[in-house]
Amino acid sequence: MQLDSKLAILADAAKYDASCASSGAVRGNSRDGKGVGSTGGAGICHSYAPDGRCISLLKVLLTNLCIYDCHYCINRRSSNVRRAAFTAAEVVKLTLDFYKRNYIEGLFLSSGIIRNADYTMEMVIDVARTLREVHDFRGYIHLKTIPEASPELIEIAARYADRISINLELPTQKSLDVLAPEKSIVRTQQAMGRIRNKLDEASERRKNGDKKVRHATGQSTQVIVGADASTDADFLARSDDLYGNYKMRRVYYSAFSPIPEPSSLLPMKAPPLIREHRLYQADWLMRFYGFKTGEILTPETPNLDLELDPKLAWALRNRQDFPVDIQTATREVLLRVPGLGVRNVDRILQIRRFTRLRLTDLVRLRVSLAKVQPFLMTADHNPSNLLLDSDALRARYLPKPKQLELFFPSDAVR
Ligand code: SF4
Repeated sequence: MQLDSKLAILADAAKYDASCASSGAVRGNSRDGKGVGSTGGAGICHSYAPDGRCISLLKVLLTNLCIYDCHYCINRRSSNVRRAAFTAAEVVKLTLDFYKRNYIEGLFLSSGIIRNADYTMEMVIDVARTLREVHDFRGYIHLKTIPEASPELIEIAARYADRISINLELPTQKSLDVLAPEKSIVRTQQAMGRIRNKLDEASERRKNGDKKVRHATGQSTQVIVGADASTDADFLARSDDLYGNYKMRRVYYSAFSPIPEPSSLLPMKAPPLIREHRLYQADWLMRFYGFKTGEILTPETPNLDLELDPKLAWALRNRQDFPVDIQTATREVLLRVPGLGVRNVDRILQIRRFTRLRLTDLVRLRVSLAKVQPFLMTADHNPSNLLLDSDALRARYLPKPKQLELFFPSDAVR
């Protein structure tokens, strides 16, 4: 098979991985010699480097052959897709060619499992090793690893990569048993724990002045949302564990998208995309706003409100804690006010040392007054308790209802 055809198949097969947010988007191209830009041949996506820069990556699978049968995956062994496999040398060549043409700044490499986990991991390592040692490639490399591979191989992969990840896929073993019977949460967590220890060791050596240490600086994972009956509380509890115990840099929530010839165990429809967005917002609240999972969701409400962002939903459930005084409230309390972000709160803490804050100061900080007013007292504003207690407060924040367009059957033939 021609390299181009392999690239088309294996880049398409990689698009279901959420670690590169723009993958799967329809792109223009300038391969006919007309126009400028749109370098994007198959497989080029954007991701974020550890320092926050947006970078272009060649995102491919080494192969979409797989001996596992994860029901949600288009590459599962029972799937009827066209298969292809790169050799390690081909991926190296593509990476270097694209890099030299300035199409990409790095490589995101994943793979279906061929023969067994160790065999596959060795092939993935072979690509990274050749790039680093033979070609002195200094671009970004993200390697997806396999929890069932031997710890020594995962450690070697981490030495060549900038970022390493293992996909958890589903938040509970119960769900894995149904949809990915070959996978085990315990095994995945053990692998994540070992990676975390090695990341800590490498970071300690860097701190002690060892400039030569070559090791990934973080790990991440992905979970699929909406392929099983797991609630948002299940996802957030799992993420809490991953951030706390495994120092995960990111948990990516990827809305399940129906695949061709799907397994009968999967839902017919994708979940609403807003669910993925709400999970990211809740995840953000846990990481940067001091919220605990049990505050965002409770056993009685195990799923996020799709109509309101989770901080606003929390504030509406906890109205007794408001309004708060912008002049005296602690940072932790201000961070819980709907409409105030981390940067706003830090600016408010600086400014209030010198002046009594008024609504106009909030406007200057680009805070949405409509959102913040019912929850915050300023020098010139004291929200009415009547509004705070009223049922109308929630309605005030709901999206405006839209009237659907009328459809006349004759429109269909125009
Ligand atoms: S192991 Fe990975 S590639 Fe193989 S079927 Fe499962 S999710 Fe797909």
